[in-house]
Amino acid sequence: MSQCYQCQRPLVSDEIAIYRKMVDRGAGRFLCKTCLAAYFSVPEELIEKKIEQFRRQGCLLFAAQPLNGESASKETDPPQKERKKHVNS
Ligand SMILES: [Zn+2]
Repeated sequence: MSQCYQCQRPLVSDEIAIYRKMVDRGAGRFLCKTCLAAYFSVPEELIEKKIEQFRRQGCLLFAAQPLNGESASKETDPPQKERKKHVNS
């Protein structure tokens, strides 16, 4: 398991993913979100929001969402009056 190269805390996959997204896609060492927040001089909360954002976009670096959830896709929901626009990027 990878560790943060500053504080040696064990990293979760999201922390590795956000580091790759925000710092270096090909990085071989990573920062935990606490150290990453310090690195960018932003609140740790912002890093968590970014992780959420990338995950919602379906970024493959963020593995938390099971890929077999297709049967529960939004298409099966009853139509809403106002359909939310999907932003696929
Ligand atoms: Zn750290």
